[in-house]
Amino acid sequence: MKILKSAVLWFTSIICGILTLTGLCSMPSSAGLLSFIIPAILLNPVIRKLAAKKKFYIKKSTTIAAVIAPLIITIVFACIFPAQTDKENTLTTKTSSAIKSATSSSETSSSSAPAQSSSQTTDTATESSAPASNAKLKVHYLDVGQGDSEFLELPNGQTMLIDAGVQERGAGIVSYIKGLGYNKIDYIICTHPHADHIGGMTEVVNSFAIGKIYMPRTSSSDTPTTKVYKNLLSAIKNKGLKINTAKSGVTVVDTGSLSIKMIAPNGTNYGDLNQYSAVLMLQYGNIKFLFMGDAGNVSENEITANVKADVIKVGHHGSKTSTGASFIKKVSPKYAIIEVGKGNSYGHPTAQCLKRLQSVGAKVYRTDEYGTIIFTSDGNVITVNKNASSIKENAP
Ligand SMILES: [Zn+2]
Repeated sequence: MKILKSAVLWFTSIICGILTLTGLCSMPSSAGLLSFIIPAILLNPVIRKLAAKKKFYIKKSTTIAAVIAPLIITIVFACIFPAQTDKENTLTTKTSSAIKSATSSSETSSSSAPAQSSSQTTDTATESSAPASNAKLKVHYLDVGQGDSEFLELPNGQTMLIDAGVQERGAGIVSYIKGLGYNKIDYIICTHPHADHIGGMTEVVNSFAIGKIYMPRTSSSDTPTTKVYKNLLSAIKNKGLKINTAKSGVTVVDTGSLSIKMIAPNGTNYGDLNQYSAVLMLQYGNIKFLFMGDAGNVSENEITANVKADVIKVGHHGSKTSTGASFIKKVSPKYAIIEVGKGNSYGHPTAQCLKRLQSVGAKVYRTDEYGTIIFTSDGNVITVNKNASSIKENAP
């Protein structure tokens, strides 16, 4: 009987201890802490027993007063400083958002959205389809000359890099992303293994902590034998990373309000590397971004997913065999971004492509005219910042 009583005492004591620790971790104010610590000590059966043995008997009325007083202090404190308590709570639980607010140096002046300091929540509403009102998505269409590279700051605090231009731009891309305050890239997408898309990726892989890498699987006859491709494969291997296959149906991110899904390639053998391009549809709240890589008409015609989007990164630098009339009509974008080098030898973007974009009323932004272009969205409104810095060759 005595053993049982002692066991019950210790069990109650441990439960009290756990409750105290939970209280310590969750209460932001000192008054809150008091309300947990004092009753926990006074009500702890082991402590009470020891006190009784040593004749320091604690009166019942003292105990009740000591339990009630901190609780009253807490309630009063919470009524007087409700906002402050909230803020402290946010700071303790959302520490990883700190890196985010320190980063962006290029906020658009036309932005009507609220200032982003103390804003970005790190866990974007996994339970709701509406985004948190102040979490921002930022898409940087990097000016890498003739080639593609898009860096995404996702509203859930993660990052994504789609392509990395030619090899000579690698160092510049690395310093651009580091300049935003990041040391890790959560998702790397190599849309297809052409030098103007994967050239700079080796430098990126060697310079950051990397989460996942996606690349399409090409047929054996289409698999490149180029040096840039081999260099990238060995950089990935040396880092102990594996390549995830990029293909239609792959979900890269899905947190409720934010989803990034691949809607191409749908085939496995094209005889043209461009058609293997990973095509991504990003949806954040009510806003959709489509990233085409170098996909052309062949791939466009195979896509069965809904392609309606607010913003499109135009396929294959605006070549005449991409952005088909029926396809772009289905997309009906408000904005179209063309990543292209000034005076390139390919004649990109072509007059035909520009005309098709014009026919659906898309506002066209070209990196050869505006430099790096940054789109920001809260899931409802899009703001555009042009004339951002370009990624120089062999930078920094
Ligand atoms: Zn290309």
